[in-house]
Amino acid sequence: MLDPGHNGGNAAHPEIINQLVNVITERKPCDTTGTQTNAGYPEHAFTFDVATRLAGLLRKKGARVVLTRNSDTGVGPCITQRAAIGNRVHADVAISIHADGGPPGGYGFEVIEPGLVPGYTDKIIAPSRRLGLDIRNAYHAVAGEPYSTYIGTAGIDVRTDLGGLNLSRVPKVFIECANMRNTADAARLTSAAFRQRVAAAPPPRPPVSLYRTHPPWGSCPTADFAGLSRRAVRVNALLWITHSHRRRHPVEGGTSQNRTHADRCCR
Ligand SMILES: [Zn+2]
Repeated sequence: MLDPGHNGGNAAHPEIINQLVNVITERKPCDTTGTQTNAGYPEHAFTFDVATRLAGLLRKKGARVVLTRNSDTGVGPCITQRAAIGNRVHADVAISIHADGGPPGGYGFEVIEPGLVPGYTDKIIAPSRRLGLDIRNAYHAVAGEPYSTYIGTAGIDVRTDLGGLNLSRVPKVFIECANMRNTADAARLTSAAFRQRVAAAPPPRPPVSLYRTHPPWGSCPTADFAGLSRRAVRVNALLWITHSHRRRHPVEGGTSQNRTHADRCCR
C-alpha cells in the first residue's frame, strides 16, 4: 500500500480537512495541506508523482499495489482512512510518502517508524522497524540523500503522534524524502529525473511477504504457503496461528471491536 501524503484539493476545503479525528494519542486534523518549496512546488504534487511512478514500477514486477488516492486534485482522505485502506487490503507493507517543511538550513531525509501505543501498535513495531531500516538503506544508497541534519537519528525517527501509524495493523513507515524548504534539497525534489530514480530504488532485500503481520486478503493457509520457501512457510504459519486468536482491533473513531482475521480470510 502506497500513501502519497496530502492532496491537491485540501487547501480549498478547510471545512473538511480541519475536522478533528482520533489518532488514539490525540485528536488532530483529518488531513493537512502539506508544505512546498520556496518556488511553490507543493508537497502533494511531489508525493503523488513519486507514488505513481513507484506503483507503476512495482506493478510491472508483478506486485499488487493499492494507493490511498488516485488523483492529485481531490480532498483527503483523512489520515485515519489512509491507515484503514492498508488494513482493509491486508497490505504486506504500507509506505506513506512525504517531504518535510523543515528549517531552511537543514537538509536530508528521515524514515518514521511507529512508537509503542499499547493495544494498537504493539504487533507492527518490530516488522515496521525492519522495513524502515531497509527503506532507509535503499533510499540513502539510490537517492544519495544524506540523513536528516535536523531531526531523527541516522535517518530514523520514532513517533506516536501520527494517525497513519497508530491506526495501522500492517507494517508501516513514513518517509520524509527531503526538506522542501532547503535550496539544495528542493532542487533535487523538483527534478523529474530524481523522482524517477528514487521510485526505481531496489525493493528491500527480503520479499515483502516476510514483513507480513496479516495473511493476504482472501487467502487460506494452504494457498498462502504454496510455492514459499521453508523459512517463509514458518513465518506465515506463525502469523496464521496469531491471527486465529480473537483480538481487539482499533477502528476509526477510537472505539474497538472484536474481529477474527482467519475467519474472514477463509470465507
Ligand atoms: Zn507531509
